Amino acid sequence: MTANGVILEVQNVSQEYGYGERRFTAIQDVSLTIREGEYVTLLGPSGCGKSTLLRIITGLNRPTEGKVLYRGQLLQGVNPHATIVFQTFALFPWLTVQQNVEMALEARGVLPSARTVRALKLIDLVGLDGFETAYPRELSGGMRQKVGFARALAVEPELLCLDEPFSALDVLSAESLRGELLELWTSNSMPTRAILMVTHNIEEAVFMSGRIVIMEKGPGRVVADLTVDLPHPRQRKSHAFLSLVDRVYAILAGQTQPEKIELGSVPGQPGQPRPRALPAIFIGELAGLMEHLDEAPDNWADIYRLRELLHVDSDHLLALTDAAEMLGFATIQAGDITLTPLGETFAEASILARKEIFAARLRRLPMFKWLLDMLRAAEGNRLKWNVVHTALQMSFPPDEAEKQLNTVVSWGRYAELLGYDDDDEVIYAETEPVVHQATASG
Ligand code: ADP
Repeated sequence: MTANGVILEVQNVSQEYGYGERRFTAIQDVSLTIREGEYVTLLGPSGCGKSTLLRIITGLNRPTEGKVLYRGQLLQGVNPHATIVFQTFALFPWLTVQQNVEMALEARGVLPSARTVRALKLIDLVGLDGFETAYPRELSGGMRQKVGFARALAVEPELLCLDEPFSALDVLSAESLRGELLELWTSNSMPTRAILMVTHNIEEAVFMSGRIVIMEKGPGRVVADLTVDLPHPRQRKSHAFLSLVDRVYAILAGQTQPEKIELGSVPGQPGQPRPRALPAIFIGELAGLMEHLDEAPDNWADIYRLRELLHVDSDHLLALTDAAEMLGFATIQAGDITLTPLGETFAEASILARKEIFAARLRRLPMFKWLLDMLRAAEGNRLKWNVVHTALQMSFPPDEAEKQLNTVVSWGRYAELLGYDDDDEVIYAETEPVVHQATASG
């Protein structure tokens, strides 16, 4: 797909909210150009102004400063060429799938005689063939969201705006709907010329889009604009894919110097620094710390005072803050701890999104990489606990090796990258989720 004609230009847009003393700048001096053929995602911690920007682009908000040009024309009022699909799409429960789609066509002034044919075509397009007469309550979340897509496509938007369209769905439905949307997009079977999607899911951004615009808050602004130059269908395990995911994480984590965090090398490398030991903490505790900081003014706390607040002893508190720093969720300086944008995203994310964020961070840790590689090389992706324990003793004394292994396994289980079979005392690598390349008709 070629990126030629400019569709949308956001020029130096700022948005302020509130009055008097409570007035504040939600986004400041944001500029963004979207061209025909582009699939752009907007990523950033909550509150950085992603929804505000979408509202400005669709004409639902009028910016305090700056302007929006649509195909070279100053946008005034609601943008007739753009539609938003929200996280959960409001369907009329008393209407069937077909009637829900026809309703959108009616609102667009399509004549009754043409509505049915068009509605059926759209239903087919999103893969809901056979469910025309079903009511929303009979559909799964993923299918309801497909009706939402069909309704959004009914108005033939040139610019399709998606506001976290997959985040309310279960893992499998989200994955298959992503595949179907990509199929529609890459096969050119919808009238849409460009897509702008808000997400907090980094892998989703890399999987779907051709460009990732990263925002930060305080005030909301664009801090990076990356091109994703990978052919579809994208391989989530490929080196190029993973290194781009890492790059985005590093930007979000506010680490211009990610390598400075001394993570050490994989175990058993003679002459190399040994891997940085994992602090023995449970992820639930780490999440508690993140939530606490997320609610604290400026996302900041004095580490000493956290001891009383979290009811933990000093050693354990240090293990917790160490883990937060190691994972890029917080920075520590002179006895203070401050959340990074990534830590904030983690604190505010759903349980599933937290697992994804955590899994991606875990894959960066040398010790974890080492274990995963070993498991993948082993028959059936399984190894006896004892075998791994012995291998770890190349780098740690036996007691410490045991502690390290228990922590690695417990973190890996939370991230759903590893499993542990208690009866056989076997550690195994979880199989990677299957990426469905669904077809437009199916
Ligand atoms: P995001 O979508 O990235 O989470 P939003 O655009 O929703 O960010 O919000 C950006 C900031 O503006 C937040 O601090 C939010 O509380 C604030 N905000 C959003 N909408 C309004 C509004 N209508 N009135 C006042 N403040 C708002």
